[in-house]
Amino acid sequence: MLHASSVLHTLRVRPPLVAALASMLLTLCPLPASASAARHAPAVPRDYDRTRCGNTTGRVLLTLDDWSYDRVERAAEVGAYLRGRGVRAAFFLINEQASQHPEVARTLRRQGHWVGNHTWSHPHLTGLSEEAARKEIDEGVKSSLFRPPYGDYGPREERIAASLGARVCTWTVDTLDWEGGDGRFPDVATLRARVRNAPAADKRGGVILGHLFSRFPDALPGIVDDLRDQGYSLCRNTGRTTPVIKDPLRC
Ligand SMILES: [Zn+2]
Repeated sequence: MLHASSVLHTLRVRPPLVAALASMLLTLCPLPASASAARHAPAVPRDYDRTRCGNTTGRVLLTLDDWSYDRVERAAEVGAYLRGRGVRAAFFLINEQASQHPEVARTLRRQGHWVGNHTWSHPHLTGLSEEAARKEIDEGVKSSLFRPPYGDYGPREERIAASLGARVCTWTVDTLDWEGGDGRFPDVATLRARVRNAPAADKRGGVILGHLFSRFPDALPGIVDDLRDQGYSLCRNTGRTTPVIKDPLRC
């Protein structure tokens, strides 16, 4: 059976419509008892926008996912660069790697960035048993923000995350920086152009997705320049953060 929420995710429709369509779809094809319990999960605020991660400021939030496999130091270097430009970003680290280098998350938070949960080993959660999905989220980085790998989540994953004190946080602009087609990552100019040309509505108060292992870190200086040239503000770096990230985001 097609999962109601993944269908909605694909459609990329806006939250109030999502809620209406979701309840309609749930009526048409009820989920098993365990999944329907999601309707009784601890409530996230009614107006919480998962694709904007609770960013209601109009400022742009840059996010960097996964891990820098060839050079662990890259995350802290990116963090230092962005802090130098007065920008707070969010890093969603894979904990299988991050737990072996606890200094990375510590440094990023000290630099004024948020560090979020991106599971233990980056699986497609909706393909796992309830128990396995819970273990993956529970063993992720401890944080109030949870980014499901591949953006693959449904009511069950959201309920599990909520029970662990975390809100789902996806994105409005996907740079597709991991997808070269020819075995190489898209270059800096391409990534910069993708952000520059992304729709204004997805940028104002939006969330931009890139990865630590691609050319995205190298594209950041140009991306920050372009966004500011286009009249956008970025989330302000106001100093040290903690795993508890309040909603709405202090962007
Ligand atoms: Zn990821």
